[in-house]
Amino acid sequence: MTPRSILPGATLGVMGGGQLGRMFVQAAQSMGYFTAVLDPDVTSPAGLVAHYHIEADYLDEQGLAQLMQRSAAITTEFENVPAGALVTLGAHRPVAPTADAVAVCQDRASEKAQFRRSGIPCAPHALIDTPERLAAVSDSLLPGILKTARLGYDGKGQAVVADRAALAAAWDALGQVPCVLEQKLPLALELSVVVARNAHGDVVQLPVQQNLHRSGILAVTQVPSPDASPALQAQAAAAAAQLATDLQYLGVLCVEFFVTTDGRLVANEMAPRPHNSGHWSIDGADVSQFDLQVRTLCGLPLVAPRQHSAAVMLNLLGDLWFGTDGAERSPPWPAVLALPGTHLHLYGKTSARPGRKMGHLTVTAATPEAARATALQAAALLG
Ligand code: ADP
Ligand code: MG
Repeated sequence: MTPRSILPGATLGVMGGGQLGRMFVQAAQSMGYFTAVLDPDVTSPAGLVAHYHIEADYLDEQGLAQLMQRSAAITTEFENVPAGALVTLGAHRPVAPTADAVAVCQDRASEKAQFRRSGIPCAPHALIDTPERLAAVSDSLLPGILKTARLGYDGKGQAVVADRAALAAAWDALGQVPCVLEQKLPLALELSVVVARNAHGDVVQLPVQQNLHRSGILAVTQVPSPDASPALQAQAAAAAAQLATDLQYLGVLCVEFFVTTDGRLVANEMAPRPHNSGHWSIDGADVSQFDLQVRTLCGLPLVAPRQHSAAVMLNLLGDLWFGTDGAERSPPWPAVLALPGTHLHLYGKTSARPGRKMGHLTVTAATPEAARATALQAAALLG
C-alpha cells in the first residue's frame, strides 16, 4: 500500500530532544511543518526549538498520547528510545524508523546477526552474558574490546581488554550486563554511509564519509574520503544499501565501517537515525540527512543528494569551553568565522562538560585540499 504524503502544515513528532532532533526540527520547520518533541529534559536542544515540547519520559503513557495527538507522523532521533514506546506509537501513527528496525540496532548482538544475514563481514566476536560464556571465550578474541550489548554511545560502556584477567575485571566493572567481546582490529580507516529508504523500497545515500575518532568519540569527518579507494567506497555504499533493504528500513540509517590495515571492509555498527558523521550534508550537499529524514517520514519524493562542496566537519566538544588554566571561556568564534566556508552549528546546550557534544563546525570549499587547509586553521584557533 502506498501511504499518502504528509504535507507541510502538518505536525511532525520526534522521540528524543538531543541535537539530532534539533536539526531534524530545523529541517522540518524550514519546509513549513510544525514540530513536537518528547523529551524529559526541560532544556533539551530540540525541545528548545520545537513548536511543542512534551516534557515526559519515553515510556510515559500520557506523554506518548500527547505526542500522538499532536503529530501526523513520528520519528526518533536516538536509538535508545524504548522499542515498546515505538510499538505503541506505531499502532496509531506512521512511525519511521519502525520499532523492529530500531530494536535490531539497539543490541550489538542482534546488529551483528543482521550483518551476518546480509553477508557483510564484521569483527570476530562473542556474546558474554553468563560466567560460563565468559570462561569459554576464545583466546583469539584477545586483545579485544568489551562493549555493553545495549545503551553504549561515544565510546561509553566499552573497555579495551588485553587478557582474560582484564576481561573478567572489565565485565565486573560493567555490572556483568550482557556484553559483546570483539577482537581489537588494526584499523587503517573508519568510514560511514548514510542511507535513506522509503516505503517503495527506493534507496538513496550520501557519499562515503571518512571519520576520525578520539577517545571513542567522533572528532573529524571528511567528505570525500581522502584515503578510501573507489573500490572500498563502492563496497561500503553497497553494504549500507543492502542493510537498508534487508531491514525493510524506513527512514535514515547510518552504517559505520572499519577498514583494517590489510584493506578489508568490516561493518562496525548501525544507527537507526541521522548520524554525527552526516552533519556536513547540511552545508555540503543539496539535500541533507535531516531533509532525507523529513522526506522519508512524510512519504515525499526521495531524491539522491548531490554533494556540491568538499567538506570537513569538526566536532565541538565541551573541552573547548575551558582554557588551559581550567577556567570556563567562550571559544574564539569571530576568528573561526573569519575563515572562508565555515558554518557554525551550536546545539544550545546550557552547560559545557568535557566530552559533551556542544556543536560542530563544517568547513566547505571547492576542493578537499582547501577544505582541509581551512579546517586545520580552525582547529588551531580552537586549540
Ligand atoms: P559507539 O557506540 O560508542 O560509537 P563503537 O563500537 O562505534 O561504539 O566504538 C567506538 C570507536 O572505538 C570506534 O569508532 C573505533 O574507533 C573503536 N573501536 C570499536 N570497536 C573496535 C574494534 N573491534 N577494533 C578496533 N577499534 C574499535
Ligand atoms: Mg560508533
